[in-house]
Amino acid sequence: MLDFLGTRQRTHTCGQLRAADAGQSVTLMGWVNRRRDHGSLIFLDLRDRYGITQVVLDKDLAPEGHAKAEQARPEYVVAAIGKVRLRGADAVNPKMPTGEIEIAATELLVLNDAKVPPFSPAEDVIANEEVRLKYRYLDLRRPEMARNLEIRHKVALAMREYLNAQGFFEIETPFLTRSTPEGARDYLVPSRVHSGSFYALPQSPQLFKQILMISGLDKYFQIVRCFRDEDLRADRQPEFTQIDLEMTFPQQETIFAVVEGFLRASFEVIGEKIVTPFPRMTYDDAIRLYGIDKPDLRLPAIVDLTAELTDPLRTSLKIAQCLPVLGFTIPSVGDLSGTTRKKLMSEIGARLDASGLAVLDLVRLQSNQAFFGPAQAIWAKLGKELERFRNSVMNSTDFSVVVTPKLGVTNAPKDHLWIYKKVGQLRLDLAKQFENQHRLFEKKGSADDYKFLWVTDFPFFEWDEQTKTWTFAHHPFTSPHEDDLIAGRMTSDPEAVRALAYDIVLNGLELGSGSIRIHRQDVQQQIFRALGMSDEEARARFGFFLEALQYGTPPHGGIALGLDRLVMILAGASSLREVIAFPKTAKAIDLMVDAPTPVSDAQLKELHIRPVLRS
Ligand code: ASP
Repeated sequence: MLDFLGTRQRTHTCGQLRAADAGQSVTLMGWVNRRRDHGSLIFLDLRDRYGITQVVLDKDLAPEGHAKAEQARPEYVVAAIGKVRLRGADAVNPKMPTGEIEIAATELLVLNDAKVPPFSPAEDVIANEEVRLKYRYLDLRRPEMARNLEIRHKVALAMREYLNAQGFFEIETPFLTRSTPEGARDYLVPSRVHSGSFYALPQSPQLFKQILMISGLDKYFQIVRCFRDEDLRADRQPEFTQIDLEMTFPQQETIFAVVEGFLRASFEVIGEKIVTPFPRMTYDDAIRLYGIDKPDLRLPAIVDLTAELTDPLRTSLKIAQCLPVLGFTIPSVGDLSGTTRKKLMSEIGARLDASGLAVLDLVRLQSNQAFFGPAQAIWAKLGKELERFRNSVMNSTDFSVVVTPKLGVTNAPKDHLWIYKKVGQLRLDLAKQFENQHRLFEKKGSADDYKFLWVTDFPFFEWDEQTKTWTFAHHPFTSPHEDDLIAGRMTSDPEAVRALAYDIVLNGLELGSGSIRIHRQDVQQQIFRALGMSDEEARARFGFFLEALQYGTPPHGGIALGLDRLVMILAGASSLREVIAFPKTAKAIDLMVDAPTPVSDAQLKELHIRPVLRS
């Protein structure tokens, strides 16, 4: 039999009471986390969002309550009424904040029972994520999940407060809108009223925030949901949250300072320190030094050994002339035995082989008298980068790799970017492989845990191999460098045009991107044309925006950062799903509500839709 709540109110949470509260009469309400039956004494651990408190039911003192406690099972909802008392010295639990006290209950109400749950929120996380997602309400009862959602709340609140203090307005923009090109597929919503027409859910509020600048709102932000129907990867969600902002009359630096400010505030609020301003690097340098546009600065950079590999040396070692030779070191991988090292070298070689690259075994090279000198010069250069990175010289536990182009590699496109990218990826993969040895990815509780970086001067255009056309690298509203426009490079040398676009990178993850926008209608039109869009097509897709641009558009720019990803890093979580209350699976399914689902014929008819099932 369940009890009625009546007019009872809880006086404290389950995480609140301490030794100083001894003697107080209290009413606690919560879930039964665990129950221990010692015959005439029954212990119930009561749990809520705030913590766990032990409740004791003594058959002599509270026979009725004791009888109810006998019936209580995990996840039952109960109210315990009684007095706070100090635990005996041997019963104190120093691991629990409430571990010095317990409630000597005089009364117990069973407010609700519970089915035997498929997993216990009292236990460590279970491996089966599908079950966790299906029973998300039980999963969210786990303290770890509550903590993740608390971090998320605090971070978002700190951002809001900071931006408010800087004069930003939080302004909502529509979800039922039309396509915004961010490079993904749209989620479409059929219109019932307008047969055959569709809204698109926004991939971002890009055009609305730009229009707010045209409207003179000056500083806009929004913590906003965006929808992108992409092929899902483990770390993507079809709907995700951005901290999105836009400003009027900014230089890039103006935006950097705002972002650094709200990040500092949101890290501070959960007790983490970061150093601002963040370092900056151009896209070209990022590729040259790290082989990737989102460098992980927790590892040493790539070292250019092109000059060390002289023409005659290349001839004797069967290395292609002219092309870059690149090396890097993964520090502190441990003492590898000769066999392990050789095996690793041949694995790396096998991996590079198909792309026309090879690995140069420096240890072997050095053992040959004829190559001793050059090998030493290569070690020295690799060692210099390692010293810059960690202030100590190279030793036998550091593992260096030198990648060379094989003879006959002629298909290298301009700038040999691909070689840098291959080596950059290899550097990251090896660092991952040895992460338990070098431990450079572990949090150490210092400002070094968070390596932020601004990457600037992205190329404006990207060559799309599939369509064989130039496409935008950021989005088509990004402004090219004024110098490149003035020099006419849009048509004479599109590859050389730089965008006023920037990414913010944290520990090798892209946290967000933004740009200074095009504010002139003639330039916008020119860009659409350069992207192969006819004037008619541009008008059909963005006519409203081209129109708006003509009514006094100020220079403006902004950025958007992924909130889910940021919170994931701050919570030390392993996936975005750990920091989103109700996430979707990698197949874009919500297992709890069971969505998406087929809909009734009547609904389809109303929407003027007739499904044609393709086999
Ligand atoms: N709309 C862009 C994005 O979602 C961000 C920006 O340019 O502000 O990536």
